[in-house]
Amino acid sequence: MSNAEQSITLTCVNCPAGCRLNVVRDGDQIVSVAGYRCRQGIEYAHQEVMNPSRIVTSLIRVSGSSEPLSVKTKQPIPRHLIGDCLAAIQASFVTLPVTIGDVIIENVLNTGVDVIATRSLPDRTCRSAKVKA
Ligand code: SF4
Repeated sequence: MSNAEQSITLTCVNCPAGCRLNVVRDGDQIVSVAGYRCRQGIEYAHQEVMNPSRIVTSLIRVSGSSEPLSVKTKQPIPRHLIGDCLAAIQASFVTLPVTIGDVIIENVLNTGVDVIATRSLPDRTCRSAKVKA
């Protein structure tokens, strides 16, 4: 291993086997991956080291209610944007009714990923729903 190379240990989360992956990185190149039992482990190592991303889950305020609505990003977003994504959700509110899967924030932070409702809440006030950011 050269001085520029970095050794990283990861646990693959793609299945319950939880393979322990040993990744060697040199700048923006993956030099080697070891410890995987299938190809998904290699792909996971590349993704996690070069462009880590996560599904974000949170609660959003509901206009006129003390009960928040649970939301999540529909796909993973880059890990470095998680804090800004949470701030965008906290700065927003939704009005009822909401159906599970409704888009609450479209294209959050220009990631191409929507924040969606993870549960339904009925309309208690008979007003139309949608979001205000
Ligand atoms: S490398 Fe393959 S077998 Fe191992 S945890 Fe990942 S998906 Fe499962």
